[in-house]
Amino acid sequence: MPKIALLPGDGIGPEVTYAAVEVLKAADEVFGLGLVFEAFPFGGNAIDAHGEPFPEATRRGCLAADAILLGAIGGPRWDEVPRHLRPETGLLALRKAHGLFANLRPARVLPGLEHLSPLKPEIARGVDVLVIRELTGGIYFGEPRGMSEAEAWNTERYSRLEVERIARVAFEAARKRAKRVCSVDKANVLEVGEFWRKTVEEVHREYPDVALEHQYVDAMAMHLVTRPSRFDVVVTGNIFGDILSDLASVLPGSLGLLPSASLGERTPLFEPVHGSAPDIAGKGIANPTAAILSAAMLLTYALNRPEVARQVEEAVAQALAQNPTPDLGGKATTQGFTQQVIAAFRKVAA
Ligand code: ATP
Repeated sequence: MPKIALLPGDGIGPEVTYAAVEVLKAADEVFGLGLVFEAFPFGGNAIDAHGEPFPEATRRGCLAADAILLGAIGGPRWDEVPRHLRPETGLLALRKAHGLFANLRPARVLPGLEHLSPLKPEIARGVDVLVIRELTGGIYFGEPRGMSEAEAWNTERYSRLEVERIARVAFEAARKRAKRVCSVDKANVLEVGEFWRKTVEEVHREYPDVALEHQYVDAMAMHLVTRPSRFDVVVTGNIFGDILSDLASVLPGSLGLLPSASLGERTPLFEPVHGSAPDIAGKGIANPTAAILSAAMLLTYALNRPEVARQVEEAVAQALAQNPTPDLGGKATTQGFTQQVIAAFRKVAA
């Protein structure tokens, strides 16, 4: 019985999380997944109720779960509290508690929604790229670091273990997709890049069924704009991943469409890329697509049911083509849209 810890959070977080739960329940009905859900306070609401963003009961609930589904946290109400009590501090603690070293951000241009992309429709068509960013190493954490009057310095550093484990995440993810990995580095200039490339190639020997190519990060930035549909899984270090995942995230054309997953040593975490959108919270018009697609990633990466996830994605694509929420120019409410997804899912899965 897979246990899903729900952290609905703040703002539109609960609205979109429970929309995703309804879709998961529909998938459970059809495929008999035996899912068990339990919700925990997290973020601003936890600060209000318990005086801290990541209370002990939430900590324990997440560690005992097979997957965590998070909505969104924060909002102007908690901007004034001391830093260690901010909702975002809870998110950092959650990531740390679960050793989440891999961040997965898919950017898919859904069929029929090419017009939303800032790229020409013929370039946007068929884009389905998964950017995997190493999240806990590299120059953002490397020592020594510092600043004096005269200079400042940071250190890009990766250990063999860090590169091997992120490479494995990429090859495993590729096996659930189109079986192609593009590793991005700067091996022509940086020793870390040379080491990264060599280590990824060594891990690749365990995955002969997956195709591997390498790109320099500068070339990759161009390719992601000029021919993004050519890529499947893209794996890279922390700083390059920070930049390239943001670049890729604009390709589908709307923040409300982007899911994410963070994988690591303990319970994996699934959450929309968007924030708590306080400006539309409680109005019933939030687009639940990113949360529903995050639930689809949960099916793939936590429960190893990629075929069920694909049917959820197909249902979402159909519902978006039919009548989307107002952010995409439609008239559907969060609830109405969710019901459209469930109806489409039942047909796709039948
Ligand atoms: P954060 O720093 O937490 O990411 P933010 O204010 O920068 O927060 P969001 O909360 O994601 O970003 O909101 C940015 C804009 O996008 C807002 O106008 C919000 O209403 C809109 N938006 C975000 N997510 C959705 C969604 N799921 N459905 C509809 N509109 C959304």
